[in-house]
Amino acid sequence: MTNRVAVVGGGLGGLVAYATLRHVGVEDVTVFGTDSDPAAVWRERAASIRQRFMRSESDGHVAPASFPGLAVRAALRSGSPAPLLRSIADRYNPPVEDFLAHVAEVRERTRWDDALVRARVNRVAAVDGGFDVDGRGVFRHVLIAPGHPGLARLEELAADPRAVHAYEPHEYADDVEVVGAGMAAATEWLNALDAGATVTSVRRREPERRPLNLPRTLFSRRGLAGFHRAARAERIGLLRRYSAPSYPAGRRWDEPLERAAAEGRFRVAAELNGAAQVICATGFRRGFRHDPLLARLVDQHSLKTAEDWIVLAPDSTVPALTDEARTLSLAGVPAQWAFPAADTLAGMKYAAHRFAAKVVACPTR
Ligand SMILES: Cc1cc2nc3c(=O)[nH]c(=O)nc-3n(C[C@H](O)[C@H](O)[C@H](O)COP(=O)(O)OP(=O)(O)OC[C@H]3O[C@@H](n4cnc5c(N)ncnc54)[C@H](O)[C@@H]3O)c2cc1C
Repeated sequence: MTNRVAVVGGGLGGLVAYATLRHVGVEDVTVFGTDSDPAAVWRERAASIRQRFMRSESDGHVAPASFPGLAVRAALRSGSPAPLLRSIADRYNPPVEDFLAHVAEVRERTRWDDALVRARVNRVAAVDGGFDVDGRGVFRHVLIAPGHPGLARLEELAADPRAVHAYEPHEYADDVEVVGAGMAAATEWLNALDAGATVTSVRRREPERRPLNLPRTLFSRRGLAGFHRAARAERIGLLRRYSAPSYPAGRRWDEPLERAAAEGRFRVAAELNGAAQVICATGFRRGFRHDPLLARLVDQHSLKTAEDWIVLAPDSTVPALTDEARTLSLAGVPAQWAFPAADTLAGMKYAAHRFAAKVVACPTR
């Protein structure tokens, strides 16, 4: 039997895809994932850096329709227009607890648990009529959303007991070095200062300051069209540039750092120099080669790649393995070739909507 749809990866990207499919009336969906809670991986990372507010805005949610966003929901709940007014000015960042409550609600409402098969998939291979998923069945349409392929660690600190990755649970020593200069690093500077520590920011270049993790234009149709027009080498260059560290501008970030610097409790250095604790806010390993499932898929089907990226069509499908009768899509970070901000809720929706449209349009579904 091949009339079926599979989502491989049961995180936030998997939930967005699943909820979108359900929304357009696709009932027969199997999700393969490692955790029953779609927010499990995200929750631990956000809790480790004590993230209290989302970086994304009102539209950073997992429901299939963009309206109502999280600002409308908060306004209705509280009876105050404040979230809406802040949202109109692009200044509403939902509290993490509201976001997680919303994920739980979508999980429940869409009966996610009924669709979930708890398993790590080792192999997705194109066969007649669709894709074989680890011998568990042939699915005509498959979306792969495996998340990041592990945390990036500094080799020189591999065996150093002082080192901890920012996305793993930790407390703060009195004297802390934070390696990195993105959102996680900035959050950790403030956390460690709040905990009474002296903080050294170890970085080689100055972070960019912007509200979202990529320039806002890349979330727009026009910005994206420009990106899609770029030739291979230029696109690689753009994606490398977009991965430079950044965190939002504003007094909320600057004032505590200025105060701490004046007290001699915050400084910037280019090298590590022996603090009691080293927090590596160094993000994730980069590139499809670090993910065994994607690496196998590329090798087995000789898929086109561009350095760290799998080359995708603008609609986030794998061109060589997609036609009117079957679809293979990527979502989340491995889909950056189609949508540079793929590792955001907006990016997950981008891939999910296009995948769902293909499934619905398929004549043999
Ligand atoms: C601390 C933090 C804060 C963030 N804040 C925001 C924000 O405010 N706004 C925003 O838009 N984005 C944010 N992001 C980015 C993004 O939303 C997250 O990275 C999100 O977790 C990505 O979802 P995902 O489903 O792609 O990956 P994950 O959440 O990592 O889920 C992938 C899942 O698939 C499973 N899996 C992997 N391989 C397989 C396999 N072969 N078989 C079966 N299962 C598999 C994994 O075990 C995991 O459960 C944030 C990220 C982090 C780390």
